[in-house]
Amino acid sequence: MPQFSSVILDVDSTLSGIEGIDWIAARRDAKVAEQIARLTAEAMTGKRALSEVYGARLEMVKPRAQELVALARAYWDNVAPGAQTAIARMLAAGVRIDVVSSGFQAAVSPFAARLGLPEERVHAVRVDFDARGDFSSFDATAPLVVQGGKRRVAEALGLKRPVLAVGDGITDAEIRPVADAFAAFTGFVRREPVVAIADFTVASFAELERLVLAPEESA
Ligand SMILES: [Mg+2]
Repeated sequence: MPQFSSVILDVDSTLSGIEGIDWIAARRDAKVAEQIARLTAEAMTGKRALSEVYGARLEMVKPRAQELVALARAYWDNVAPGAQTAIARMLAAGVRIDVVSSGFQAAVSPFAARLGLPEERVHAVRVDFDARGDFSSFDATAPLVVQGGKRRVAEALGLKRPVLAVGDGITDAEIRPVADAFAAFTGFVRREPVVAIADFTVASFAELERLVLAPEESA
């Protein structure tokens, strides 16, 4: 029997080594890219509230539809080593895996699909575009763009327990009260305030797989 019946995975700096918004910002001028990267880092360590940062970053970056297609490929090009295998084995063992991300649905969904996770297991932020594919708006009231939103989304899924939440950021650790454990993922970035409040720390998907599956199944 797996140790956890359900696993909630983050995307940016967890399933993939990039931060989606930073990746798009890097295609703008250097000043915008620097500002966005700083805001992202502050949001992920809890120094700044996500709700304060999210809209500001989007207005600066205004992602285009085509860029989200390219971002899906960039996520895949930077996929966490061993993630595909670990996910396949956890799914085969009957573990339910959901992706809960404050990233863009249009980029996260195609990436998750390549990892064997269908659209209905992906919970991310929808962005609207105009007829030319330019950014028009996003849902500022969507739970995933505010602090504590991942917790609300995770709770609403009504997952079979025990539930393990996994991610690199403080917004992932916020799922802990409605899960049974939180694992800080340090394979790409190690954020000390996140590690400090985690039940487990995993540096790779091989380690995560061992944590989720019972020892005799991972041996
Ligand atoms: Mg993350």
